[in-house]
Amino acid sequence: MTDIMTDTAFDRDHLWHPYTSITSPLPTYEVSHCEGVNIHLKTGESLVDGMSSWWSVIHGYNHPKLNQALIDQSKKMSHVMFGGFTHEPAVTLGKILLDMTNQAFEQVFIADSGSVSVEVALKMALQYQQGIGKDQKTRLGALLGGYHGDTLGAMSVCDPENGMHTLFNDYLPKNHFLPRPTTKPNQPLSIEDKTNLDIYFNQYGKELAAVIVEPLVQGAGGMYFYDKAYLKQLKNLCEQHGVLLIFDEIATGFGRTGELFAFIEAGITPDILCVGKAITGGYMTLAATLCTDEVSKGICASKSGVFMHGPTFMGNPLACAVAIASCELLLESNWQSQVQQIEKQLKEELLPLTESNKVEDVRIKGAMGIIEMKQPIDVASAQKHFVSEGVWIRPFGKLLYITPPYIIDKKALSKLTHVMSSFT
Ligand SMILES: *Cc1c(COP(=O)(O)O)cnc(C)c1O
Repeated sequence: MTDIMTDTAFDRDHLWHPYTSITSPLPTYEVSHCEGVNIHLKTGESLVDGMSSWWSVIHGYNHPKLNQALIDQSKKMSHVMFGGFTHEPAVTLGKILLDMTNQAFEQVFIADSGSVSVEVALKMALQYQQGIGKDQKTRLGALLGGYHGDTLGAMSVCDPENGMHTLFNDYLPKNHFLPRPTTKPNQPLSIEDKTNLDIYFNQYGKELAAVIVEPLVQGAGGMYFYDKAYLKQLKNLCEQHGVLLIFDEIATGFGRTGELFAFIEAGITPDILCVGKAITGGYMTLAATLCTDEVSKGICASKSGVFMHGPTFMGNPLACAVAIASCELLLESNWQSQVQQIEKQLKEELLPLTESNKVEDVRIKGAMGIIEMKQPIDVASAQKHFVSEGVWIRPFGKLLYITPPYIIDKKALSKLTHVMSSFT
């Protein structure tokens, strides 16, 4: 029966989409192909991409160099198990990641998705504490307003209220949350944050294995920026209380904020780092968890003697090959000036919208432009409007935001900001 249904009808009745209902779904648009910063719909429209397919497609779609990396690797092997084998794509990617993160880490766990890399980071922290004999350190800490992925462990460190996960609270482990930082960018640590951090560590420091945060920019939990002064104080307290610090740079990594990684901009090195999203230029699902030698040694001193994680597709050669090509492309491009150019133009074209009485706040950093509205946005109708205007922007909650590919030109970016302006 299903073969006589149109693609969109089949999709509506049979396929789950992110955070949507099967009984009352949001509309979906069928994409035929993509090129550069343009997404082409089956119905003929062409949309300027404002999202980079959720932070990932930084070099644009259908890039010849990335395509070639996949073709070349597929002729050697698309996959081989990582248990007992290794291969050049994994080794080269490991080296690149350690280099790009300024040799601040020693070991790399190549994971299959951002959420998995967070699970890996959390398990690393818990095993480390067991390994060094701190058996009472069995809880995790996180910030209110944070987002770390959709798997159960990752969910347990996402914002428990405004996150998408309130439904599961009875099931999830009870972790300890810090208030959202109030220290705004370029400001000294607020008294409020200092006090909150002190109280928090006095109360929970003994039971915490690790604190996980998205450094400088909280992404899916509200597109919220805060200053490095907060991270500095957090790092100090973590050290004093024997708590590992995990940075989740799955969204901020690979240049989005204007630096290769936010931890480099902040000048604060965590014990464990998660990267993902843009790692393959948006070509395949891949992520990585990097850690220091001290963390690895602690893990290996734990009862099992090994790190207890090993997904089937760990170190997938195709994904590693395209990640290598994407990282090389990034490093040999003038990404920093591209991102600065985007930031400058976003400031010019979006900051004036602060004046609108429908707008609560406008925030810009690197290649991220965020308009926080006073009222929640109706996604279905907003999306329809954006598509009719030839752009792809997907709002959530009160947030109308763009994270365009770094290669976007001035004219295409203006098209995005123009449509955003007309919406406010
Ligand atoms: C997207 C995201 C994740 C989850 O990554 P997936 O690849 O979707 O599993 C985790 N943390 C942050 C900060 C993210 O932006």
